[in-house]
Amino acid sequence: MSKFWSPKVCELTPYVPGEQPRERLIKLNTNENPYPPAPGVEQALRNYPMSHLRLYPDPEATSLRNALAEEFGVKIDQVFVGNGSDEVLALAFQTFFRQDKPLIMPEITYSFYPVYCRLYDIEYRSVALDDNWQVPLQALSADSGGIVFANPNAPTGHGHSRTAIAELLERITECVVLVDEAYVDFDGESSVPLVKHYPNLLVTGTFSKSRSLAGLRLGYAIGSRELIEGLERVKNSFNSYPIDSLAIVAGVAAIKDREHFDSCRERVISTREQTRQRLEAFGFEVLPSQTNFLLVSHHKQDAGQIYAKLRERGILVRHFNTEALRDFLRITIGTDDEMDSLMEALEVICR
Ligand SMILES: *Cc1c(COP(=O)(O)O)cnc(C)c1O
Repeated sequence: MSKFWSPKVCELTPYVPGEQPRERLIKLNTNENPYPPAPGVEQALRNYPMSHLRLYPDPEATSLRNALAEEFGVKIDQVFVGNGSDEVLALAFQTFFRQDKPLIMPEITYSFYPVYCRLYDIEYRSVALDDNWQVPLQALSADSGGIVFANPNAPTGHGHSRTAIAELLERITECVVLVDEAYVDFDGESSVPLVKHYPNLLVTGTFSKSRSLAGLRLGYAIGSRELIEGLERVKNSFNSYPIDSLAIVAGVAAIKDREHFDSCRERVISTREQTRQRLEAFGFEVLPSQTNFLLVSHHKQDAGQIYAKLRERGILVRHFNTEALRDFLRITIGTDDEMDSLMEALEVICR
């Protein structure tokens, strides 16, 4: 605390990201992709004319938005880009959810959402997950200031079908429904094709997970022109240039390489299913996952202790110290070799 801070700042509880360790650990704690970005990304960065860094980037990031528009089969004015999807989410909360009625979100979901609510003075209500750890779409009230959830959800891993999201949108027409698709490329079903039918649907995505570019900070939102225009208004009242020139060219190159993208996500999905079986054999309960992580709990051992013992052996996973998730570990899917090391460590710890 400091007397120099605005009073509101003293009340904030910032989001705490997963650790980025300095030592060499097998890093399975922040859902990064274990494979490198598309080869074209390196090419684009190497070929970038250094002298252009003298100039401000394109404030509209036109080439990147064009590439995304083509990828998703929408118009360029239905695409918004930001400095990571965290920034896109922050701008969306500010643009759409500062309403008289409370925002609705699941009780267990991306833990950044409540942080934005405090920052922007947004009142929110949370809804418990159902008995299968799924987001209870029927329980999300139409009489609210907005709806937000991740689909597939984090850190649980379950995703609803596009049909289920369409049913929700048939019912909820008077506020923005924000579907965060950070993990959709690992077996989820994207709701982007629904944006042409539902002007209140905003879908966000990121280059951090399925495109192996967490360090570049690129995220996007797809929605009706009306919603995107709102986001632009807020963005241009805050920072005209959130996407730097290098991120623009690298992002375009990443989008263009369909083959690399497909091969990386297929490898992650296949490793995930092998990992599931091996973890179950060690006595873990493993929730179904349409993402690049598994949420697991052990029937005998304490999750916090497994976390600590893995860390001693150079393996970092995520343990959330909250009431609802205390018994769980979230394990990011790494390479097959990394998963072998995890299993060797668990063999010692769990036997
Ligand atoms: C990782 C993640 C994000 C943030 O992604 P960035 O683009 O790296 O900011 C957003 N939502 C969810 C659910 C995530 O897991």
